[in-house]
Amino acid sequence: MSKENSTNQFQEIISHCKEYGFIFPSSEIYEGLSAVYDYGQNGIELKNNLQQYWWKSMVQLHENIVGIDAAIFMHPKTWKASGHVDAFMDPLIDNKDSKKRYRADVLIEDAMAKIEEKIEKEAEKAAKKFGDSFNREMFLQTNPNVLRNKEKLNVIETRFKNALEENNLTELRQIIIDLEIACPISGTKNWTEVRQFNLMFSTEIGSVADEAGTIYLRPETAQGIFVNFLNVLNTSRQRIPFGIAQIGKAFRNEIVARQFIFRTREFEQMEMQFFVRPGTEMEWFKHWKAARMKWHRSLGFPENKLKFYDHLKLAHYANAAVDIQFEYPFGIKEIEGIHSRTDFDLKNHQELSGKKLQYFDTELNQSYTPYVVETSVGLNRTFLALICNGYENQKLEDGSERTLLRLPAFLAPVKIAILPLVKKDGLPEKAREIFDVLKFDHKCFYDEKDSIGKRYRRQDAIGTPFCITVDHQTLEDSTVTLRDRDTMQQERISIERLQQIVNEKVDWRNGLK
Ligand code: ATP
Repeated sequence: MSKENSTNQFQEIISHCKEYGFIFPSSEIYEGLSAVYDYGQNGIELKNNLQQYWWKSMVQLHENIVGIDAAIFMHPKTWKASGHVDAFMDPLIDNKDSKKRYRADVLIEDAMAKIEEKIEKEAEKAAKKFGDSFNREMFLQTNPNVLRNKEKLNVIETRFKNALEENNLTELRQIIIDLEIACPISGTKNWTEVRQFNLMFSTEIGSVADEAGTIYLRPETAQGIFVNFLNVLNTSRQRIPFGIAQIGKAFRNEIVARQFIFRTREFEQMEMQFFVRPGTEMEWFKHWKAARMKWHRSLGFPENKLKFYDHLKLAHYANAAVDIQFEYPFGIKEIEGIHSRTDFDLKNHQELSGKKLQYFDTELNQSYTPYVVETSVGLNRTFLALICNGYENQKLEDGSERTLLRLPAFLAPVKIAILPLVKKDGLPEKAREIFDVLKFDHKCFYDEKDSIGKRYRRQDAIGTPFCITVDHQTLEDSTVTLRDRDTMQQERISIERLQQIVNEKVDWRNGLK
């Protein structure tokens, strides 16, 4: 898909989310608050289903993982120990003409992605020209344009990596200048110096000014797990290796919050910290890397839309880190991070709190600070990936069109729509009887307004996997039609078997098979 088409499609997706009650701009009657969103009646169902699916996959299916729910507010020392007060920074740069602010590292990454795109385009052009005789490998190794761009990319990548590692802000600015990056708004290359910017939001606690102390809104949920390590260890009967999982809000004062719900200042993370014996962390890192990729595939994402990306610069706490990236319409971007966090967090909390955060390993007959492998996935980014992946405008054989959301049945906001063919002859009453049975197990939707075709389209647009239609035959032989969203095929089944069939079709186990 061309860039322009992807941009148009993404705009369509954003409008669709609003029109069908998935996502609304926050406080819209006051013209909204930049990069803050509310989830509507269908959005919350999808978000809840997704987080429950993650919880089941991680906590319910693993004997050695338990969950907690820590508070958003934490003792301020937490963020000193975790390194966030001193090191949770992004390099920012302003364009002097547009007065727009950017992340310097993101400007460089985008420019590097453009060079990669150029190489890809060159290869596509040649593939068209040479047809079957085209040898892609050979072309990439010999074409002078490709080689020149590859060399440019290598040089920039090395400079970029060094600048990040050495925290060299002057060099970051120089790379932007050398790459001739222009501000997309003003079109000029009139840049300020690069400065560091701490991403934590702070607020005051206490009702009387004198008592007030600055505290932070947590920028990640992980620290709530680390400070509860001992509590869980002492009360859960878990032995190492074991994990603690948590889902919750996190807050970051992102310099550039955009691309809809992809990067917002308030978001939700689903995190799991896995505590292991030191020296075994790379094994577990490999294990969770594979397990988490499998989980993303279980959401129906095709293999070619998911990628691993090894970090150029490791975070201050990590000795290995990989992202799982998803191909959004606006580019291939991080959806989950998997980090080997060493004993960084527990050790620092131990030092600052004076509490011993250690584990006695009976097999080794010794105490140690466990190492940690973290999996951290954005709930909102996964939500967005599901919508982008499932959104489709389809031309039908009869020339008409429909928009559908191909969401996995077990995640769909509404599982079954129950529709009387007409609003008379006792059909609504019969349909309501079915609704009243199925509603105990699933989120159902009853609709009798408009033609049946229009009602099907409305359900397709919110991703409802199945529609049950009650017609005159239902009154004679107690059967209904069950329509499949994707194939639009209808099968006639008896009401007696309905519950079991629907249960099987929307079972979350289907995702993990
Ligand atoms: P990025 O490089 O995109 O800012 P990150 O590497 O800082 O992300 P992590 O700290 O690894 O992100 O957080 C884990 C996950 O939390 C991310 O993979 C992402 O899904 C989610 N996440 C992080 N920041 C945001 C945000 N501002 N808005 C929405 N989700 C976010």
